[in-house]
Amino acid sequence: MSERERRQSDVTVPFHRPSIGEEDIAEVADALRSGWLTTGPKVRQFQHDFAKALGARHALAVNSATAALHLALEAVGVSAGDEVVIPTYTFTATGEVVTYLGARPVLADCRSDTLNVDVSTIERCLSSRTKAIVPVHIAGQVCDMEPILELARARGLAVIEDAAHALPATYKGRPVGTIGDLTAFSFYATKTITTGEGGMVTTERDDYAARVKLMSLHGLSGDAWNRYGARGQWYYEVTDFGFKYNMTDVAAALGLRQLVRMLTFQRQREDIARRYNDAFGGLDTCFVPRDAGLGLHAWHLYILEVNGTALRIDRDEVIERLRGGGVGTSVHFIPLHLHPAYQRAYGYRAGQFPMAEAAFARAISLPIYPAMTDAHVDHVIDVVRTTLCESRR
Ligand SMILES: *Cc1c(COP(=O)(O)O)cnc(C)c1O
Repeated sequence: MSERERRQSDVTVPFHRPSIGEEDIAEVADALRSGWLTTGPKVRQFQHDFAKALGARHALAVNSATAALHLALEAVGVSAGDEVVIPTYTFTATGEVVTYLGARPVLADCRSDTLNVDVSTIERCLSSRTKAIVPVHIAGQVCDMEPILELARARGLAVIEDAAHALPATYKGRPVGTIGDLTAFSFYATKTITTGEGGMVTTERDDYAARVKLMSLHGLSGDAWNRYGARGQWYYEVTDFGFKYNMTDVAAALGLRQLVRMLTFQRQREDIARRYNDAFGGLDTCFVPRDAGLGLHAWHLYILEVNGTALRIDRDEVIERLRGGGVGTSVHFIPLHLHPAYQRAYGYRAGQFPMAEAAFARAISLPIYPAMTDAHVDHVIDVVRTTLCESRR
């Protein structure tokens, strides 16, 4: 394909497109017409429905998963001088929230098969300063939680799950969101359900829920709904120095309708993953994602790993060729220890986490979302197979 043809074909299958239906639009319109834009009845409803869908005791809506993680760490008492163990193979949000509290993110390597952390990679990172562990369910596949929870219990550590990818994943029959001390979900535009920007904290503990609720809105003794609602009062107290992390009713309206389709979306994603696995599983030029079989996989991402030894071109060149063929991709993740900020602040350097670095060098995230048609999936399969075949050694 010539450079000109390449440019003309552009991306025919974008890396992501959200599924926004008429019911979503109607609910958002309803919020707009109601005159109640910020935290109010739609947020209450969304929290209620979310908790019910997962069987969680508390669900607290916030404006991002980053906020959710920050509040969760704050709720368990992470503070200056503490250490929090997180994977290096994740998005920076997992680590930056630790620094917000003056604590230190201690990076753990990942497993080469699932790309998740496990108890052995975490155990090596513990010290007398460790306060919490934040497992990340990469791509929507749950980490093996039982050994991690056992380790945490034995040492008196909190477990906060970064479930930004993992709605509606399960672990041995239990929904993610009911397992660790607190769990953070994301409703960012590319995640498995969306509110544009948004997040949720779930917890089984009343004290954590109360703290998250308090700190999510300036540390005020009542939320905005109570403050300004018809039966509310003008009086409030600032009981601590909180944050401005509340979700709007406009966002929650979208979330309410998306939540209803959560399992339908999961099945559609799983179908696409199955078709990719069937198409790429037999090739020696790549590795398909390993499903450890611990529960329902949310399939937020489909991370294909190219086999460098079988190819004449590297991962970056594969991405370029896929783009030329009209397939949008992304890379998840550039390990945290390779970023300048983590190197400067904590002395991390390349070479420290071989599993994560090897995974990063091979990883290509393919399009996987319910708005893909069968023709889109066929097109991705065709372009990936052709590219890998033509580039074989
Ligand atoms: C997307 C993401 C987040 C942050 O989610 P936001 O809602 O955008 O704040 C956190 N952790 C991981 C692993 C993510 O992929």
